[in-house]
Amino acid sequence: MTLETASIQIRLQPNRRARRWILKIDPDHGPSLTIPGCEITPEIRTILIRHEAWLLEKLAELQTRHWLTPPFNEVIGHDGGTVPIALPSANNYQPDEWRRAMLTRARELLPQRLEQMLARLDHQLGPDHGLQVTRLSLRRMRSRWGSCGANGRITLNTQLIFLPVRLQQHVILHELCHLQHMNHSRAFWSLLEKLDPDTPQHRQAMRNARSFIPAWA
Ligand SMILES: [Zn+2]
Repeated sequence: MTLETASIQIRLQPNRRARRWILKIDPDHGPSLTIPGCEITPEIRTILIRHEAWLLEKLAELQTRHWLTPPFNEVIGHDGGTVPIALPSANNYQPDEWRRAMLTRARELLPQRLEQMLARLDHQLGPDHGLQVTRLSLRRMRSRWGSCGANGRITLNTQLIFLPVRLQQHVILHELCHLQHMNHSRAFWSLLEKLDPDTPQHRQAMRNARSFIPAWA
């Protein structure tokens, strides 16, 4: 439906039992308007136009968080603070499919990132640094971005792929530093800062890193 300034797809839901108009935006299904009775009347347009500003504002909020759409290579690795977004209609919202695609992409990408960071270690610490990764595990984790076990086993959160590349690198370097220091001692931080001189900014940015993850993921 085209309003004054924008074209928005809104589901109209006539409902015999409804007592009033209900305009709402569902993160999964987009905007809808419940219409009392079973008739769709010209009044609908007036109502929607009256609420256009509210609708646009809510949609903009949701776009950034809920409706980040594939293709992933437009979303992943984007480093400028904004991400390409699209506003799909309700019927091309396919979170299951996107989650599968995301996982495939994480399995391709994160091992590559780890290789790149190991190469950085070789370059900055010399080839004899002795930091050995024995195994990389990838899985979705709720509260951590990565972990490192005493046996050289590193686990990375698959949702890292939604973060800007510099933050992905920062997380991986953090875990690699634990291969040498299994704690957050002064020595640990100085090693990390050597490998990633922007560590203070990156730690700060990591506090809000969850905001990069779309709700469907
Ligand atoms: Zn740590």
